[in-house]
Amino acid sequence: MNGTNIEVGKIVKIVSNLYTVKVTNSLYECRARGKFRFDKVTPLVGDMVEIDTKESYIINILERKNFLNRPQIANVDIGLIITSAKKPDISYNLLDKQILVIKNAGIEPVICITKHDLLSFFKRIKFKKIMKYYEKIGFKVFYNDDLSSLKRYLKNKTVVLTGQTGAGKSTLLNKLDKNLNLDTNPISEALGRGVHTTRHTEIHEIDNIYFADTPGFSSLNLDDITKENIQIGFPEFDKYVCDFKDCAHIDEKNCTVRNHVDDHNILRSRYENYKLFYKEIKKW
Ligand code: ZN
Repeated sequence: MNGTNIEVGKIVKIVSNLYTVKVTNSLYECRARGKFRFDKVTPLVGDMVEIDTKESYIINILERKNFLNRPQIANVDIGLIITSAKKPDISYNLLDKQILVIKNAGIEPVICITKHDLLSFFKRIKFKKIMKYYEKIGFKVFYNDDLSSLKRYLKNKTVVLTGQTGAGKSTLLNKLDKNLNLDTNPISEALGRGVHTTRHTEIHEIDNIYFADTPGFSSLNLDDITKENIQIGFPEFDKYVCDFKDCAHIDEKNCTVRNHVDDHNILRSRYENYKLFYKEIKKW
C-alpha cells in the first residue's frame, strides 16, 4: 500500500455515526475508526480529517482552531451577526454582546445590516455613522444590498449565523442562493431543528461558503466571560493607558478610557454596554 488512499477533507454532515467528508469536489461517506485514535475527541462537523477513501474510515482529526457546543461545530471562521436597522430596531446592547461572545470563542464577528432602507434619510445617515465607528475599531460591516462584497469576504469560510428573530437570516440566505428557497421561517425551523432524534449536524455550502444549519450562540449569555477577558469585545479601549495597571474603567480615578467616552473617541453606547456586561459578570 502506497498511502494514496489517504485524503484530507472537511466533515460537512453527521447523521448518527455516519460522516460525510468533502474532499475537493467529492463527498465520501465514512465511519470513525476506533475511538482510541481520537483521544476521547468526537469528530464534529467542520473538522478537517484524514480519511481512508478505500476503507471509508476517518483515521485522524486534524487540530481544531476552535469549536462550539451549540451548534456542535468545529473550526468556525466567522460569526455572522445579522442585525436589522429597523423592524426590529437595532439593539446595540445585543450587538455588543454578540461581538463579545463571538470574539471570546476565538471567532471573527462580522456584522451584516438588513432593512436599513426602512430608516428615514436622516436616521440612515446617523446609523451609517455609527456603523463607521464599528469599522474603525476593526469590525467588518456589510449591508445586505451589497451582497457581492459579503460573498467575497465569506468565500471558503465556515460561518455561523446569529441575530434576533426577524432580522432577516433566511431572507439573506435565500438571496445568497436562489436555489435554497427557504421560507420566511428562521433558518433553524426551515432546516429542521428539533426534528431529528439522532445526532444530525450539517453545514450547507453556498458558492464556497459553509453555513452551519442552526443559528449559533443561541444561548447568548456571558457565562464564559470573566472580568479579565471582557475587554476582548472592546478593542477600542486598548489604545488608552490608565493610571491603574489593571484598570476596569468603572470607577477608578484618572481613567483614560472613561475620559474619552464622548461619541468621538469611544462611543457612549459601547461604553454603557461594557459597564452593563461588567456588572452582570461581577455577580458571579
Ligand atoms: Zn481605565
